[in-house]
Amino acid sequence: MEKKDIASLPLPVLTDLLAEQHLPKYRAAQVYRWIHQKGAVTFADMTDLSKALRAQLDDNFVIFSCAIEKKLISCYDSTVKYLFRLHDGEMVESVVMQYKYGYTICVSSQVGCKMGCAFCASTLDGCVRNLEASEILGQVYAAQRDLDVRISHVVMMGMGEPLDNYDNTVRFLQMITDENGLHISSRNISVSTCGIVPKIYELAELKTGVTLSISLHAADDVRRSRLMPVNRRWQIAELLAAVRYYIKKTGRRVSFEYTLVAGENDSVQNAEELASLLSGMLCHVNLIPVNAVQETGLTPSDKTRVQTFQNTLLRRGINTTVRRTLGADINASCGQLRRTTVKQP
Ligand code: SAH
Repeated sequence: MEKKDIASLPLPVLTDLLAEQHLPKYRAAQVYRWIHQKGAVTFADMTDLSKALRAQLDDNFVIFSCAIEKKLISCYDSTVKYLFRLHDGEMVESVVMQYKYGYTICVSSQVGCKMGCAFCASTLDGCVRNLEASEILGQVYAAQRDLDVRISHVVMMGMGEPLDNYDNTVRFLQMITDENGLHISSRNISVSTCGIVPKIYELAELKTGVTLSISLHAADDVRRSRLMPVNRRWQIAELLAAVRYYIKKTGRRVSFEYTLVAGENDSVQNAEELASLLSGMLCHVNLIPVNAVQETGLTPSDKTRVQTFQNTLLRRGINTTVRRTLGADINASCGQLRRTTVKQP
């Protein structure tokens, strides 16, 4: 019998499974806290359990954890980038950033990505597989353990499309906010999507309290379809209807990511169109000069163009910030480290 991935099991499920093995409820809570609060990566770590019980758990379950394959520390701002090795040898990236309000981790949700966005390094070789909840959680636990800090904020903006791995993403969200786990406030969590419309509606129904972040990058369908193939399936009007529904259901402000690519989507007219599109919506726009990825051939907009774009939006009453670039010397944007480390076929 294959051993079960114990770190992907929410506490009620683990409790039921252990009850089948005649173990009381408090044992499940104890094991759960070892994994999700104290960062145990083997059953042998669980020192207050009897040897017999540890052996019993070991016979039935496996704890998936992330091993540090590579670690890069930015000399500008102490941003740390990890390349983690998973149990089957696949690699994913995570980034830890320090802000005034605490530590934020950017986690991956898939090995690779199949969405095909023109500017993104994660998608260049397609999607290898989804991550289990334990593997998304494991990135947070491994980084916390390594840095010896408490991570208070999570953004799902690493490799992969979280809503293309919906069930495991939702499970991750439930488990990371669980009081028997790291108990991170849902207010401190962002889920970023390229716009998988049906899943935005599903997520709205769950009322998780997390911030939804939409990677928009263009305000008209021709341009957006060119940059993001997902737009051919769900166009901007459909996407924004889903976003409005999310806002109505959750009362939460939605965030729009807009990557500025020189000569592609960064003119004053582009900004005016964006302002018209988002006018009156409970939202915030995050402008990000595109990170140059060699294979994409796209270049970032210069400072004055970024400033003009922001001012145009602000003048139209759209809440807009420019994303501070962190870890500029360590290729901190997603997908680049894995590509240079893992040999491509
Ligand atoms: N698949 C999800 C989350 C991962 S990407 C999504 O699309 O939102 C996280 C963010 O980084 C997205 O807004 C994405 O569009 C952006 N991004 C990807 N490559 C980038 C690059 N080279 N420069 C700037 N932003 C990039």
